[in-house]
Amino acid sequence: MADKKIVLCDADDTIENLCETWVNYLNCQYGTKVAVDDVVDWDVSKFFPELTKDQVYAPIYDKEFWKLIQPIDGCYEILHKINNKHSLYIVTATNYQTCDTKIERIIVDLFPFLQWSQFIIASKKQLVHGDYLIDDGVHNFEGGHYKGILFDRPHNRLFDDKAAGLTRVHTWDEIGDILL
Ligand SMILES: [Mg+2]
Repeated sequence: MADKKIVLCDADDTIENLCETWVNYLNCQYGTKVAVDDVVDWDVSKFFPELTKDQVYAPIYDKEFWKLIQPIDGCYEILHKINNKHSLYIVTATNYQTCDTKIERIIVDLFPFLQWSQFIIASKKQLVHGDYLIDDGVHNFEGGHYKGILFDRPHNRLFDDKAAGLTRVHTWDEIGDILL
């Protein structure tokens, strides 16, 4: 297919709801009342001043926590279509302690059309070349060899996407409009 592209796509807070799951988990565990929309910075611990940094980040290193993540609204159908049309790779900077549980959750429970061979674990996503990168982390676009699709999240809302040459999208339907 002539218009078949290499589409790189982030996992956390792009196809699954890490931040929402994390904030809800901490609220449940510690009785805090933080709203996910209030988390407007990459460092989640800033929004839980009554907790230590270790307490805030502990779930990220807990395999059981990763079994709670859910798909982002509207993602499943569009990602499935992108997978059928293009060469799709999930590029994620996941840590080694929970990598297996997280990816198992994604490929077994949430997005069973994805194969393990489509996963690339990379902290420096710029080393992976593709036609597009879909991501909520603004640091992953700088110097990258791809067109950037920034998935709008509270923690990137203050970022000037236009100045950085990115296309900001608010829904997976908008991603479908670009790639399908
Ligand atoms: Mg992310």
